This record gives sequence, structure tokens and C-alpha cells, in this order.
Amino acid sequence: MGNDTTPEDLIELLQRNPEKFAENKKYGYPVPIDRIISDCDIDLHFKLYEDDDISGECGFRNNRFFIAVNHQEPDYRQRFTLAHELGHIVLHLWQKTGKGSVLITDSKKTMFRSSDWDGKEYEANAFAAKLLMPKDEVLKQIQKIVDERDSYKFRDDQIRQELVNPLAVYFLVSPSAIEFRLKNLKILN
Ligand SMILES: [Zn+2]
Repeated sequence: MGNDTTPEDLIELLQRNPEKFAENKKYGYPVPIDRIISDCDIDLHFKLYEDDDISGECGFRNNRFFIAVNHQEPDYRQRFTLAHELGHIVLHLWQKTGKGSVLITDSKKTMFRSSDWDGKEYEANAFAAKLLMPKDEVLKQIQKIVDERDSYKFRDDQIRQELVNPLAVYFLVSPSAIEFRLKNLKILN
């Protein structure tokens, strides 16, 4: 990152286009979500929660934005939670926060059960998916896989093994997260 970029600039870029963000700022892949959070001057805490249903939290207190993540969850899950919480700050808290404290708590229920998603949860999840798995990079990596196997045809029963899993490793997300992304991009049915 250039020294000329302030945290406010980064937040604005993230608001405008999370998909181009990692590419434009030369962050590389897998997207270093914890570094991005610290470049945005947001405090980051890895926590052990007594209530292990909590995936993460974010908010504003003592004049600082902060994100906390449940450190007991698998790495790929923590990365998605961090990107989700960053989404809440960028999309929902950044402009609105005056001096008052605010806290958003996410459990597996709020984040991953689609029937319980309200608009903001949906937006934070979409933000996280775009930031961690930008469309252009997804397409580029699929092209690479296709080139290597010399065929663009995948059998249904091999898709996990030959397409989904390698992409999940590359982007350091769960297989179901990349699968969901591929469906959203209309690459998978
Ligand atoms: Zn949330």
C-alpha cells in the first residue's frame, strides 16, 4: 500500500468497489483481511467467547472502530467473519456513528441461516464474498484450472474435487463459500 493512502481513502474504496479493492491496492491472494482491517485503522481482537455460538462482533467505542472474531473457529471461517464485520463497518456504521457507542454481534444464526438474514446481514455477506472472492480473480483462476486440464467440461460428481476445492484453497475460504459465490456468478447451477 502506498503511503499516500489514508484509512479514510481505503474505506471509501471499499464502499465503492470491494471487488476491485484487493486488485487495485496490490494486496494479492488470499486477500489478507486482517492487514486490510489494520490498514483501515480499525482495532482487531481475536477472542475466546464463552458463548461459542458467537462468530464475531464489530462496533464503535471510545472513538474507535473495532472488530472481534471468535478465535476458536476454523481459519477460513474467521476470515469470512472478519470480512463480514468489515462490511458492517464500511456499509452500515461508517457514516452514521457520532459519539455514541454501537455494537453488532453476529452468531452463526445471523450470518449463515438465510431464512434469518435481514437486509444488513445479506449486505455484509455479499460484501465479504466480493472482497474475499472478486469476480475477475475467480474467473482467472477457473481459466487456469481449465487450461491445466485442457477441458472446460466438468462432470457434476467431480466439481467439488476439481473446481470448488482448489478455489477454496486459493482464496482461503470454505468450499461452501466459494460454491455459493460460483452460484451467484451463475458459473454453477
Ligand atoms: Zn452481521
